[in-house]
Amino acid sequence: MRQVDARQKGPPGSAGAAAGLGGRRLAGVPEGDAVYLTARRLHAALAGRVLTRSDFRVPRFATADLSGQQVTETVSRGKHLLTRTDAGITVHTHLRMDGSWRVSPAAERATGGHRIRLILANDTWQAVGYLLGVVEILPTAAEQRAVGHLGPDLLGPDWDPAEAERRLRADPARPVGEALLDQRNLAGVGNIFAAEMLFLRGLSPWRPVGEVSDLRALVELGQRLLDANKDRAGIITTGVNRRSEETWVYGRAGRPCRRCGTPIRRAEQGAAGEERLRFWCPACQR
Ligand SMILES: [Zn+2]
Repeated sequence: MRQVDARQKGPPGSAGAAAGLGGRRLAGVPEGDAVYLTARRLHAALAGRVLTRSDFRVPRFATADLSGQQVTETVSRGKHLLTRTDAGITVHTHLRMDGSWRVSPAAERATGGHRIRLILANDTWQAVGYLLGVVEILPTAAEQRAVGHLGPDLLGPDWDPAEAERRLRADPARPVGEALLDQRNLAGVGNIFAAEMLFLRGLSPWRPVGEVSDLRALVELGQRLLDANKDRAGIITTGVNRRSEETWVYGRAGRPCRRCGTPIRRAEQGAAGEERLRFWCPACQR
């Protein structure tokens, strides 16, 4: 909670991957590191405080009212956010493509009304969720319904690389680029991390999982990359914190590979309707 602690009287600040932050985050869907950071900011604003207001702007829960309940914590599970209360209730949200959370002083008027999907407020802070892909209320005891399908969480307390490897291996013919993004295999990897992990291990996104000799090293690298990025707003895999130098291949189609100079390639991969852009160096990655 760097931002909150550093400015005792200031707001916890924008808590969304898409919420600006100097515009440094590479364009793309929020990945596990961004969701983790969002969870920490929501936790700092809400945990230990009684909700004075809840406003669910989704039809299914339009009449729900959690005011009077004390928030116990907000945690991330992969790319899902779970906000729990002392009444045994969990508010489950997911940023999906465009979602973000913003935390501001409770007295401030929330802007962007038509994009708001949920407001949770106490007498000090309000957390406003914009364009959230999922908003639902469920019993905390039934959270497995929402997140039980997820593979080991790269940033979770129960991170288990052997289990992640086992799940990946279960479908040996599947292209590794696709398998890495399946949250049932490991939770938290998105497009950017997948591209960078594969480059750093010299693996083509199209190589079948069964032909990757060291899957364990791949998933452990993923865990280290997410962990190294979890406290900052952008994603950096090169170690260079300068605009347009943050990644090895992601977002660099047509530009020379930082290692060998070959133009980086870009193509779509994935099942129909779920295609995602892949970036790779055809010389370094086989
Ligand atoms: Zn190369």
